[in-house]
Amino acid sequence: MFKYLEESRYEEYLNADTMTEALEQAKDLLREGDWPHEGKTAYVAAEVVEIQEDPDGNEIELDHSAVSVRLDPPVPPCEADQHDWCSPHELLGGLEENPGVSGNGGGVIITEVCRHCGRYRVTNTWDQSQGPEPVETIEYHEADEASREWCAEQAILNAPSLDALVEALAEHFDNTSERFQDRSLVELPTFGGAEPEDTRGVWSWDENRLLIGEGNPDEWEVVTRTEWASGE
Ligand SMILES: [Zn+2]
Repeated sequence: MFKYLEESRYEEYLNADTMTEALEQAKDLLREGDWPHEGKTAYVAAEVVEIQEDPDGNEIELDHSAVSVRLDPPVPPCEADQHDWCSPHELLGGLEENPGVSGNGGGVIITEVCRHCGRYRVTNTWDQSQGPEPVETIEYHEADEASREWCAEQAILNAPSLDALVEALAEHFDNTSERFQDRSLVELPTFGGAEPEDTRGVWSWDENRLLIGEGNPDEWEVVTRTEWASGE
């Protein structure tokens, strides 16, 4: 006979023939348990005891084994189908070759940000908040102003076509950072075709068209290269 025992003294009998089977059942029970949720990876443990009843009905312990499972916090929803975790240095800081990573005890804390929704994922490989033994934990943080600005910039810089760029500028430009509004517009993506000889007032292009204008993107327009050449 096998018995499942939690630290809280909760116990139940398992319907198992071997210790291996009993341990698997114990893991399922731990996973299904109603553990207090801190929004962070938790490790929960129990014990499995093999017992036998003697003729007087007393339980004799034959064997026991510890079991633990890792319970990660639920992944928060994303505005896209799924998160795309990135490590941009301009947002996360740290070493240029290893952005968002800082040393922590014998391990590291890795911060990443989702390109779509701006949420953060923090992985701590040396978390001692659950006892002296360091464990790896994950937690998620909500988007903040800095990450929202970065997401808006990414949507513009990763536009797949000239039309998508115009749309992304209309939708996201107001949410970008001042730094981006001041400087990065000159680094907008282009989509094939030759670079115009004179790029003053030309922000982007594809094979047949140019994105031109003065001032902010809401004052820009798309013209064909033919129209541009004939000075219209
Ligand atoms: Zn996301």
